[in-house]
Amino acid sequence: MQAEGPRCHVIGAGLAGLSAAVRLAEAGRKVSIYEGAAQAGGRCRSYFVARLDRTIDNGNHLVLSGNHSALAYLETIGARDALTGDPDPEFPFVDLATRERWAVRPNTGLLPWWVLKPDRRIPGTTLSDYLGGAALALAGPQRSVADIVPSRGVMADRFWEPFTLAVMNAPPEQASARLLWTVIRETFLKGGARCVPQFTRSGLGPAFVGPAVSYVCERAGEIRFGQRLLGFDVAGGAIATLRFREAEVSVAEEETVVLAVSPAQLRALLPDLDSPEPAGVIVNAHFGVDQAVLPDRTPPFLGVLNASTQWIFWRDDVISITISAAGALGLDRDGEETMLPALWSEIRQALDLAPDCTYRAGRIVKEKRATFDQSPAAIVRRPATRTPVANLMLAGDVVDTGLPATIEGAIRSGEMAADAALARA
Ligand SMILES: Cc1cc2nc3c(=O)[nH]c(=O)nc-3n(C[C@H](O)[C@H](O)[C@H](O)COP(=O)(O)OP(=O)(O)OC[C@H]3O[C@@H](n4cnc5c(N)ncnc54)[C@H](O)[C@@H]3O)c2cc1C
Repeated sequence: MQAEGPRCHVIGAGLAGLSAAVRLAEAGRKVSIYEGAAQAGGRCRSYFVARLDRTIDNGNHLVLSGNHSALAYLETIGARDALTGDPDPEFPFVDLATRERWAVRPNTGLLPWWVLKPDRRIPGTTLSDYLGGAALALAGPQRSVADIVPSRGVMADRFWEPFTLAVMNAPPEQASARLLWTVIRETFLKGGARCVPQFTRSGLGPAFVGPAVSYVCERAGEIRFGQRLLGFDVAGGAIATLRFREAEVSVAEEETVVLAVSPAQLRALLPDLDSPEPAGVIVNAHFGVDQAVLPDRTPPFLGVLNASTQWIFWRDDVISITISAAGALGLDRDGEETMLPALWSEIRQALDLAPDCTYRAGRIVKEKRATFDQSPAAIVRRPATRTPVANLMLAGDVVDTGLPATIEGAIRSGEMAADAALARA
């Protein structure tokens, strides 16, 4: 398709910027992407780590089959096959305090009869524990998850806390009930077929990032790396100039700018716009191991309770663990020398590895600003896609999509910005 119409300038090549660019390129528009870093992907990226001699993801990312925007985006860029998942949803867990192991296995149909089956639900829970979660649907915007669901007992320990930490990167008392409900509404409430965990075959970059860049560039688009936006000039109510560190780019009145930067950069570039602060450290540890050590089963992940480790993932010859809300839980303070052996000891117990089983190299990655403040007080300040500047649209997980800071939220925000840009044209 021949690109036509006014150009769209997209600032930031995280998933929000890429999704906006893909949508615009698909609609036949000319697109220029400006990325401050040397690579695309932002908080969802893969990179080579010499110590491990492997390309790893900055953090383990879980996508569910109900994340329809993410899956449609992969379909468009020709990377749907880069994700894989079992046909049936399964969430395996181990409790390191009691050594109990179980798997939550929702049925795929719309009617959730799995909650009636003790061998499919969380041990020690009853049907009424699950029905209680429906109260989240009615939660007002000022309510936290802990205001609505039990904060003590089996359901709190084995479901609400791990689920909230994983989805919201915050403990239940700091996380908006309304945001968590949106995820439940789009996945679990639509039946088990919408909550099947999806994993990348070769990492985030080959799935979500590389194919998107190729898609845009093959359709009269371009991407420029090392282009950090420092500010812009507005004339007649519209952006007229984009000021990058080393160059200026003129923006014609009919052209559009999609600002798809991180929450911290959004606050720096638009100081008059009230938007949530970045928040929430996520720690990941990656261990290079002998491939024979890896569990020979799917799904390739395990939830861990009563440990610092919350989730263990494995792929090829790397085992990775995730600790969400690590700052709030006080689990982000130690250095690699202390953390690596302590976390490996938890992995050994969780995966039932031999006591002398060890790793060849390890690496800790601390993402200090992994998400934005998703507390009830902060989410009412999420900005809208459109701004008072006529040709400026916002994208990014922090934009008010109704979803938490996730791949799905970032991709949807990009689509919303692209649609607003197309509508303006
Ligand atoms: C460790 C970790 C684990 C996560 N786990 C999950 C998960 O399991 N499931 C899930 O769905 N989500 C997860 N997330 C959240 C998800 O990664 C993010 O919500 C999503 O990637 C945000 O994308 P974005 O495009 O909005 O922002 P970003 O990825 O931050 O992209 C912004 C881009 O803009 C660029 N930029 C910034 N300032 C400028 C500037 N001035 N000029 C030019 N460019 C600029 C940045 O370099 C970056 O590339 C996780 C995040 C982290 C960090």
